[in-house]
Amino acid sequence: MNLELKNLINSGIEGLTPYEPGKPIEDLEREYGIKDAVKLASNENPLGPSPKVLEALKRILSGVHRYPDGNGFRLKEALSSKHSVDLNNLTLGNGSNDIIEFVARCFLSSESNAVFSKHAFAVYPLIVKSLGAEGIEVPAKDWGHDLQAMLEAINKETKIVFIANPNNPTGTFIEKNEIIRFLEKTPSQVIVLLDQAYFDYSNYEKEDVFFDLVGSFPNLIMSRTFSKVYGLAGLRVGFSVSSKPLADYLNRVRQPFNVNSLALEAAEIALADEKHLEKCLKLNKEEKEKLYRFFVSNEYEYIESFANFISFDCRGKSNKVFKSLLPKGVITRSMAVYKMPNHLRVTIGLPEENVIFRESLSSLRES
Ligand SMILES: *Cc1c(COP(=O)(O)O)cnc(C)c1O
Repeated sequence: MNLELKNLINSGIEGLTPYEPGKPIEDLEREYGIKDAVKLASNENPLGPSPKVLEALKRILSGVHRYPDGNGFRLKEALSSKHSVDLNNLTLGNGSNDIIEFVARCFLSSESNAVFSKHAFAVYPLIVKSLGAEGIEVPAKDWGHDLQAMLEAINKETKIVFIANPNNPTGTFIEKNEIIRFLEKTPSQVIVLLDQAYFDYSNYEKEDVFFDLVGSFPNLIMSRTFSKVYGLAGLRVGFSVSSKPLADYLNRVRQPFNVNSLALEAAEIALADEKHLEKCLKLNKEEKEKLYRFFVSNEYEYIESFANFISFDCRGKSNKVFKSLLPKGVITRSMAVYKMPNHLRVTIGLPEENVIFRESLSSLRES
């Protein structure tokens, strides 16, 4: 049988390359026959989740033969009271990637386009293209979003503007007043997805925008995740806050049980442990400053970051540096897909992991 998939496939999908995640620790250890490798590639929380989550997971496991609560009522209640938002404004996702997909599927088609910044999250162009829509990439300003240029890029066919704040992979941050000014100037028929995956990190150092904004902007969707500072990347859970009519549409394209039962309960417990959150944020900031000092004294240029990672300039040798760090057991992230071929991104790990990273990087310069 001669099956020409090429002729069948949706045209937007033909030209896609799958999202390439950070190299898994298991792969590295197998390939190089080493142990105790340090993964600093995917912006995970090195301290892991709240110990209370780990305790509770054993209990929750005994219930996995049941379907999860398809509405995630208890997690929504916890989010609602913590963030002072109405239950009807919330949408839960299997990671916030799920939310990004709902938004795209609700609003994009082959007749429309979406605007995003160069060097922003790699998933935006992927999802836009997969739906046959046009992606409009706006040049960055100082590695971050150029909001004025993004406003100017909006045209009659624009349905969505994606903004990651702080941005991944650059860690850049847009000030609160600039976000508000941007929202005021954006045509109301354009949906703005404000991706706040790293909100807690930025809010630890800066005043960031909060969910009350959706009361003023019915076209605004704000998404957050439990994958980063809450340490639940492997369980997959995120959420968005938006106007009720918008949340209603997002929930129509959601799979019936998109968030699994372990993730629902773990997120609820993680949300309540503010002490653990504080500990993670404090460690991240201290370690970030040590890394900054290292980059300065070793003459690496870096981009100031308001998240749990730093992108640094390897002076044209990023591929070589990336590969030379691997046999030393250190996994960083290549920025080639982000169109930053000179940079590597390093996630801020535990103090001892960061020491290994710094020593490995120094030893490359000496050799
Ligand atoms: C990590 C990340 C996400 C979240 O991913 P999920 O694990 O699916 O919640 C979303 N946006 C950005 C910019 C990220 O870096």
